Amino acid sequence: NFEKSEKIFIQTENSQYSFKEFNQLCNKIANFLLVSKIKANDRVLVKLEKSVICLAIYIATIRAGCIYIPVNTSYTPPEIDYFIENSQPSLFIANYESIKNISNKNIKTAQLENDLSGPFLEKIKSQKNIFEPIKRDKDDIASILYTSGTTGRSKGAMLTHNNLVSNTKSLFKIWKFSDNDILLHALPIYHIHGLFVAFNICLFSGAKINFLEKFELETVIEKLPKSTVMMGVPTYYTRMLQSQNLNHSLTKNIRLFISGSAPLLSETHKEFESKTGHKILERYGMTETNMNTSNPYDGERKAGTVGFPLPGINVRITNPKNGEKLGVDKIGMIEIKGGNVFSGYWKMKKQTNSSFTKDGFFVTGDLGKFSSDGYLSIIGRDKDLIISGGLNVYPKEVELLLDQNPNVKESAVIGVPHRDFGEAVVAIIVADNKKNLEIEITSSIKNKLANFKKPKKIIFISELPRNAMGKVQKQKLRNIYNNLFD
Ligand code: AMP
Repeated sequence: NFEKSEKIFIQTENSQYSFKEFNQLCNKIANFLLVSKIKANDRVLVKLEKSVICLAIYIATIRAGCIYIPVNTSYTPPEIDYFIENSQPSLFIANYESIKNISNKNIKTAQLENDLSGPFLEKIKSQKNIFEPIKRDKDDIASILYTSGTTGRSKGAMLTHNNLVSNTKSLFKIWKFSDNDILLHALPIYHIHGLFVAFNICLFSGAKINFLEKFELETVIEKLPKSTVMMGVPTYYTRMLQSQNLNHSLTKNIRLFISGSAPLLSETHKEFESKTGHKILERYGMTETNMNTSNPYDGERKAGTVGFPLPGINVRITNPKNGEKLGVDKIGMIEIKGGNVFSGYWKMKKQTNSSFTKDGFFVTGDLGKFSSDGYLSIIGRDKDLIISGGLNVYPKEVELLLDQNPNVKESAVIGVPHRDFGEAVVAIIVADNKKNLEIEITSSIKNKLANFKKPKKIIFISELPRNAMGKVQKQKLRNIYNNLFD
């Protein structure tokens, strides 16, 4: 609807795009895909720093009927090789350094540097700025987002057009978005939060985006008075609370602060309210399901809860042992069914089947409970997933790498509370010869793991606590090191 509008859609530090200009940029890129012989259903793998061009590549890929696969820019060459091997993309768009390092030299590539120079833009310039979108069915795949796997291998969650559209419409309505809104966008755009929740809502509602390359406290504080909505991970809110300038008057134009992707501490919720007068609205979602629940816009936003199921989405709590449905106040597995739920893991039939119940509910791996007034609380994670700064780290993947060192007998990687990151990755290691081992390990994982997955601390102990069945008791370790970063 906004395609021809001259209204400003995206405002960056040094440029601005009207809806019309953004639309034309997307069309040029879609035409480039067409002339590059990238066909419907082909995968386009994108590893780019956050930019408006990158957003336009997302929309262009969808318009050309292809499948968009964005990946975190901090992934290392072996991790990118895995994504290429698994998704078999027809095109890889990245900077020279990333392209140079891939093992599969048969893949078509397009080069765009971090400063937005490079041959890709040159090729775009000469394309036509009109494009007839390729027709897709609502159940066709629009995007694949990689989540880390508990076995150390990432899984590609296949999201359909209907998943994205239905969730966007639902959130647009319950969070009361309009074309008068201005969203402060500091989130990364390789993850559902910044890409689908934040960007899709603005595209759909005609809201303007104050587009920041990343979260930088001073810039966020400066932009708050010129925005009406902010979405963030809990870390953003704890960082904002550290600013002397955060107060009622700075945030008086904001109508809604939203938090998600990791648990928001009740303490942060209360402190934020007392400093600004705003009750943060917490919601719950995940890569495989988009958004599931949200605290109400008008009703009470309860700290420590993630609110009610979104309209049309079925959320239930079951006994993880036998799948039996549990009632109010009983802790169990959170299971989800609805138009928001993904269609499976790309090329992983076995993992897909084991993630769904017989009656079609997705088993989230999150443990939670409903209160008698219908609010959902997340109690913990069934899997040992660590969420550091809003990003998922699966301990197994880090443990497998640590165990490769011949001096490491065994390792357990846990998440420990951290004021800034929410949780910090900590490695507990049992080793024969500890001399220089920490330095050795740190350097051996340097180029193999993205920064957010690297342990913030390595601790040596004589043996790992185990239960009668021989399983490492991670909860015991978490209790021991709970105050490590106090
Ligand atoms: P991701 O797939 O990266 O979006 O991570 C999804 C996981 O983040 C969920 O399965 C939850 O464990 C966690 N998560 C998301 N939102 C919340 C929230 N509001 N409170 C607690 N955990 C959350």
